[in-house]
Amino acid sequence: MAHGTPIPKTWTWYDGAWIEGNPPLIGPRSHAFWLGTSVFDGARAFEGVTPDLDRHCARVNRSAEAVGLAPTMRDEEILELARDGLKLFDRDAALYIRPSYWGEDDDPSLVIGADPASTRFALSLWEAPMHEPTGISVTLSRFRRPTIECMPTNAKAGCLYPNNARAAREARDRGFDNAMVLDLLGNVAELASANVFMVKDGIAMTPSANGTYLAGITRARVMDLLRKAGTPVVEKTLRYEDFLAADEMFSTGNYTKVMPITRFETRALEPGPVYRLARRLYWDFAHA
Ligand code: PMP
Repeated sequence: MAHGTPIPKTWTWYDGAWIEGNPPLIGPRSHAFWLGTSVFDGARAFEGVTPDLDRHCARVNRSAEAVGLAPTMRDEEILELARDGLKLFDRDAALYIRPSYWGEDDDPSLVIGADPASTRFALSLWEAPMHEPTGISVTLSRFRRPTIECMPTNAKAGCLYPNNARAAREARDRGFDNAMVLDLLGNVAELASANVFMVKDGIAMTPSANGTYLAGITRARVMDLLRKAGTPVVEKTLRYEDFLAADEMFSTGNYTKVMPITRFETRALEPGPVYRLARRLYWDFAHA
């Protein structure tokens, strides 16, 4: 059933069965192929743990509703399936866990849009090594995050990612690992693939969740862990210039967890004490 280029070991649950490889679930006449109604979420397994897997499973259902799809699975059912899928891999394997929904049929009552009754669900797990926290470089993108009036920014929707990808491509072409992306007002939103924090005078700061970007599950977890450990954390409007004057910068996101930013534009930064605390607290939480 597999097609396409070789992929890491992957299992997908679809329509009641686990299938290995990359099964052709979407065809040229599928709505999602043409008009892009799809949502997903991403969790991770590593070192035998799956931090916040329940939250990632619940969020994919909220994302589906936000783009007019009708979730076919309860949050707990997705969680149970994901736990089932883990058994297809080594206990300590580093995995990406991705539940997804898409629209299969066009809605005949709409000029465009997917028929919610045709919502399909698949859960894929695949081997994806964890990244060593060696640090990433970041540059400002000229592309911007849309507001909710422009795009379904309240969903983790596939359609948002080609915009993030152009920011990532621009950064790569300039010799950087990731891009800092502003919102339409010119305030910092996030990176192309993760949320962003800065530290100034011992205070951790991250852009307010203003609806233009995915205020991530890892971001919320890290804020909570830092606060409980006595480090002040502030959500506020932050400008590019604030980051240029930061003592520390780091990113949070499911895929790479807590990662130090060691170069911002031409400026080298050290992985600082607040970053190190955040990463250690996250690992302690994951293993608790
Ligand atoms: N922003 C974007 C654009 C992302 O793709 C991700 C990764 N899912 C995040 C932020 C971080 O979100 P989370 O911590 O929920 O994974």
